[in-house]
Amino acid sequence: MKLQRNEKCPCGSGKKYKKCCFLDPAKNAEIARAASLANTQEELFQLISKPMEVYQLKVDLIRMGIQEIEEEVSRTFEVEGNHTLYDFHMDIQYAFNWDNDHMFSFYLNGKLFDRESEYSANPLGEHTVSGFGTPSKSAAITQIRDLGLTENSSFLYLFDYGDELVHEVKVEKIRDKGDGDIKLPNILTELGTPPSQYGEFE
Ligand SMILES: [Zn+2]
Repeated sequence: MKLQRNEKCPCGSGKKYKKCCFLDPAKNAEIARAASLANTQEELFQLISKPMEVYQLKVDLIRMGIQEIEEEVSRTFEVEGNHTLYDFHMDIQYAFNWDNDHMFSFYLNGKLFDRESEYSANPLGEHTVSGFGTPSKSAAITQIRDLGLTENSSFLYLFDYGDELVHEVKVEKIRDKGDGDIKLPNILTELGTPPSQYGEFE
């Protein structure tokens, strides 16, 4: 849908769009996104008035290089649907105490190194495209709500293509954001101690 700046704002305020949400970068980004997905005025209004969803995501460290992780080392997060995959990568880096000093990828179909379902970036969030095969998609501009996730779906997060820290991410719950959700992202549970990123040579 194309937004007309002189028409009424899709938020329903009654004011002209150019004098309302157009002036607020965050609201304007939401409206532009909804407009890109909607075919009718009705759909646009529905998308804008929909509450933000909160995703409960459990991240399990399953392998470091050739070493399988036997004991559970996991962190469970609550993040909003407009969180990007890059934001989520940073949550994981912080919660597992990794150093964010290497490339990373998410593989949405659960197959490591599968380019078709890959979203990647470097530590600064820049999308680097290698010359081989299908280029990966950008983790920095892709939001969690754009991935078509459902409860119980899972995918992989790979940090560091050399040392291969492999994590499985499970979608445990998807719910509407409530008034109690003031501070998100949030870490719900922390199980086990992540090993040193650099092994015994740290
Ligand atoms: Zn408005």
